[in-house]
Amino acid sequence: MADPTGFLKYPRRDMPKRPIDERVGDWREVYADVDPAERDADVSEQATRCMDCGIPFCHSGSAGCPLGNLIPEWNDLVRRGDWEAAAERLHATNNFPEFTGMLCPAPCEAGCVLSINQASGGPVTIKRVEQAIADNAWERDYARPECAEVITGKSVAVVGSGPAGLAAAQQLTRAGHDVTVYERDDRLGGLMRYGIPEFKMSKKRLEQRLGQMRAEGTRFVTGCEAGVDVTVPRLRERFDAVVLAVGALNGRDDTTTPGRDLDGIHLAMDHLVPANKECEGDGPTPISAEGKHVIIVGGGDTGADCYGTATRQGALSVTQLDQYPRPPTERDEERSPWPTWPYILRTYPVHEEGGQREFAVGIERFVPGTGDDAGHVRHIDLRTVRVHKDPASGRREVFPVGDEVRRIPADLVLLAIGFTGVEPMRVLDDLGITLTPRGTISCGADWQTSAEGVFVCGDAHRGASLIVWAIAEGRSVASAVDTYLTGTSELPAPVHPTALPLATVS
Ligand SMILES: Cc1cc2nc3c(=O)[nH]c(=O)nc-3n(C[C@H](O)[C@H](O)[C@H](O)COP(=O)(O)OP(=O)(O)OC[C@H]3O[C@@H](n4cnc5c(N)ncnc54)[C@H](O)[C@@H]3O)c2cc1C
Ligand code: SF4
Repeated sequence: MADPTGFLKYPRRDMPKRPIDERVGDWREVYADVDPAERDADVSEQATRCMDCGIPFCHSGSAGCPLGNLIPEWNDLVRRGDWEAAAERLHATNNFPEFTGMLCPAPCEAGCVLSINQASGGPVTIKRVEQAIADNAWERDYARPECAEVITGKSVAVVGSGPAGLAAAQQLTRAGHDVTVYERDDRLGGLMRYGIPEFKMSKKRLEQRLGQMRAEGTRFVTGCEAGVDVTVPRLRERFDAVVLAVGALNGRDDTTTPGRDLDGIHLAMDHLVPANKECEGDGPTPISAEGKHVIIVGGGDTGADCYGTATRQGALSVTQLDQYPRPPTERDEERSPWPTWPYILRTYPVHEEGGQREFAVGIERFVPGTGDDAGHVRHIDLRTVRVHKDPASGRREVFPVGDEVRRIPADLVLLAIGFTGVEPMRVLDDLGITLTPRGTISCGADWQTSAEGVFVCGDAHRGASLIVWAIAEGRSVASAVDTYLTGTSELPAPVHPTALPLATVS
């Protein structure tokens, strides 16, 4: 039985971070290295704040955790110091808790009963408890390879090694299938490898989990584009089923602002990928922010990653622009009532490190330099704007407010304005799969696409989303593929293909 008054005894304490002047000088994770014994004692107190609610909103599929993580159960196990049982309960629903522990925006905490009333001291630090259980499991060797007991003789190709593909591959390998993951990049991990920077999650965590998967028998082929290097006829001949986990990596561009074709204006991923490769030891990035005035267009996760990367590269200034007005700092019950995902200002650790954010602004034009510099962006003209979203169609229109135009320096402009869906690719053409108007790949209730024996999961299916959803879809597609191959499955399926979060996490 949990301690129903724990939250009255212990205040909420988040994961401690390293001092700002130290962390901006390197690429290591922003969180402080804490002695494991101290961490465990502190996190046990935090877990004691959980009341083990009769109806745990943290755990539910739409407002809380899409994976159905057994949060009150492992909170209580951590409170009692039974870390091994907590690791078992955590891994029962989540293949990669160290990824979500570091990276998830935690809809579970927004749905926690303790977040209804701020007088409670705020929600349980669920994400921190999850991370500590995952770290503890690796340190004490509780996260051992789980090899299949029965080999089915069936084979599956998984295309794409992001969190969706990896979750599907691990589940299918553990169910006894012969699984090969094809990845066109030179390293595995999808956006966790080349999108998300090292300071948000160390690649060591990824390597550790890939090591476990290799030991379980999953095969990986890198530098291999499905449809090109391994053709569709070859996939059909060699495998009994194919899972497409190809992501939604088609970056949205700005096609209307005058001056877009100037040098020095790039899509966010063109900045993040080589910066991540530099951290991997592949040599200096061609797009560094060092000594530059940097403008980041877009207020979301990707923009924040460019922000932290530019700061660490030694930018002269960093300014992040958002067309929407500054959100409130506390939940507006009218607009996003508990337990839905609240519409509030999201401040990431990178925003504490310097730079500035501007809201309700839009770029009127990109301004070039003069003389020899006339082909390069050197300033932007900014205006105050208002965004109108048509509730019926969802279409957005941006209107200027007033006549004032401000000119600010801009040597490097990074467009972090989202993704339009799955990239055009040969594998889809040769399978006869067409994209939906949203740029995604549709499927039936059994996760099967219009092509027989070909399944889809992750961002490729739902559009650019979150790691927790990618893992949930990867687990669910594995159950569907297992059923397709063997007629039945004991693998869990946490989400249905039509499941949508109550509120979109941007
Ligand atoms: C910069 C950035 C930061 C983010 N930060 C967060 C965060 O902090 N928290 C969070 O929850 N979410 C975050 N997200 C979102 C999250 O990363 C994605 O939702 C998640 O990675 C989707 O997983 P996926 O497996 O579906 O696709 P991806 O991770 O995109 O992986 C798809 C993989 O498929 C490969 N591929 C594509 N086509 C082929 C082919 N034909 N053959 C072989 N391989 C192919 C690609 O190379 C890629 O490796 C972020 C996204 C971005 C862009
Ligand atoms: S909603 Fe909060 S307090 Fe209740 S069980 Fe979940 S984590 Fe514990």
